Amino acid sequence: MNQKANMSALRFLLGYLYKHRVSLFLGLIVLIAVDSFQLIIPKIIQHILDVVAGTQFSKTIILKNSLLIIGLAILMVILRFFWRFFIVRPSRKIEQQMRNDMFEKLMKLSSSYFNRVKTGDLMALFINDLNAIRMASGMGLIGLIDAVFMSTMSLIFMISISPRLTLMTIIPLPIIIIIFIKTGAAIQKRFTAVQSSFDTISSHCQEAFSGIRVIKGFVQEMQERNFFYSSCNDYVNQNIRLVKLWGVLFPSITMLASSSVVLLFYFGSQQVISRDLTIGQFVSFSFYINLLVWPMIATGWVFNLMQKGLASTRRVLELLTTTSDIETPALVTKSRMLKGNVEFRELTFRYAKDTRDVLRNISFFVPAGSSVGIIGKAGCGKTTLVSLLCHLYKIERGQLFIDGTDINDIPQEILRSSISYVPQDSFLFSDTIKENIAFSEDGAVSDEAVEYAARIASVHEDIMKFQNGYATKIGERGITLSGGQKQRIAIARAILADSSVLIMDDSLSAVDPITEGQIKANLKSVVKGKTSFIIAHRISTIKECDLILVLSEGQIAESGTHEQLITNDGLYKRLYDLQRMRIAAHDKS
Ligand code: ADP
Repeated sequence: MNQKANMSALRFLLGYLYKHRVSLFLGLIVLIAVDSFQLIIPKIIQHILDVVAGTQFSKTIILKNSLLIIGLAILMVILRFFWRFFIVRPSRKIEQQMRNDMFEKLMKLSSSYFNRVKTGDLMALFINDLNAIRMASGMGLIGLIDAVFMSTMSLIFMISISPRLTLMTIIPLPIIIIIFIKTGAAIQKRFTAVQSSFDTISSHCQEAFSGIRVIKGFVQEMQERNFFYSSCNDYVNQNIRLVKLWGVLFPSITMLASSSVVLLFYFGSQQVISRDLTIGQFVSFSFYINLLVWPMIATGWVFNLMQKGLASTRRVLELLTTTSDIETPALVTKSRMLKGNVEFRELTFRYAKDTRDVLRNISFFVPAGSSVGIIGKAGCGKTTLVSLLCHLYKIERGQLFIDGTDINDIPQEILRSSISYVPQDSFLFSDTIKENIAFSEDGAVSDEAVEYAARIASVHEDIMKFQNGYATKIGERGITLSGGQKQRIAIARAILADSSVLIMDDSLSAVDPITEGQIKANLKSVVKGKTSFIIAHRISTIKECDLILVLSEGQIAESGTHEQLITNDGLYKRLYDLQRMRIAAHDKS
């Protein structure tokens, strides 16, 4: 299974590499050229030394060869720039393409996916995993080819000088490989521990900063600080564990590599004395040993990079092959708006297989242009009901029709452009107020249109009080808005979208009753002809709706107009009396 997954990950990565084959090929050619020059230089040195040691001492030969070495060195500097350029550039491009593909995929996946997956994991995928893939397809690829080519060629050159000496001096080298193979798993394990310790710190920071008000509110600074200190301590310890291993490994490898040189001195010098070897050959042999040692060390590093890159590719591939549980037909004609006739037919829903039903047997019909109020205790399924209308989750039992078409047959683009949804906790982006209100519009939006929407949502005056008005930045690098202001900006955003269905999920909860009254009055003209769904806790918010649904434990307990429900004398009436009594008591006090 693992092997199979690795193979598909490799095939997937090769697909991306293939797109940059020309650049990669050029990079490899240049890399091999640089390596070849590096391999030739000892030969030139050998030649110079043999000339010097020989009888035919010639200044011109020495000068010519020295200039050749300098020339090659300069050429290598230039070519090294090019191999970096040709190989690193595609690796950056591959990273960019994957990042775009992943983002596009995530934009298509349904809400159930985001319920399952942690945001932190997705962030790690976008940062750590893409980084590992880039390293594997850039430096990893270079290292791999460099190591294979250099070690093979160095060996060939060594054998060409003296097969016997080659055998004698490479004895320590297989030990280096064995050490790397044996310690590879331990290094990997310690490295993973360092990574996961770092993940703990970063996710703790993320939570602590976004939850800073709660931390301060509950005076938990000390506990948070202690936890943070211990996480940082662990991170240092894990790093030290890794450094300790490297600290033993690296010098040992260097020592083993140097022992090759010692062996060369011992056996090689004897061969020089016995005239089996010239001085030049002896020196160039020592160069080749050095050239051979580096690939041995690099192999471990490259192996590690490749392994990590492959593991990351598997995770990226897993995301890219995740299929959305919601499949709707592709958009064929130009987007057309739905009118907004909504019918739920015996719809039952649960979030996951082994959980309880959150909605049961929901059936109702509203013609386009109606207003629907939804009320009920917290957790009774109000948000779930409107989320299904936005097709955020797959509908498996029962049906939901819009304009007589099953929601599964409505292309997502049409559905989403026909519905404006103001969720319970509206999210505003770190951008200007204007951009936040004009969020749903693709092209340029006039200031008048934005201001109109803000006036309807009764937030214009608040905005004008800010120094930069509509150009005021909000969010992390801007001002902080109150809950009510946020809600009203989100309402303005939905108004500007001008869709045929408007959903407001408890969107006036943080707004004071007077402003709420204003907004409701302003909205009247705007929602005319639109189907609106308004979830509320206060009966006053939904009293005038054409249809009120009273939900209780996932079922429609009662439905009708306000007057009908009052006459019914059921759950709604009890809620109404309770709220009236509360208001009366509040007024008295
Ligand atoms: P309401 O809007 O009436 O407060 P919700 O529709 O938000 O109620 O929730 C109805 C039930 O569904 C609750 O029991 C809640 O715990 C559960 N629920 C809501 N959202 C999810 C979710 N994303 N995954 C699993 N269960 C959920």
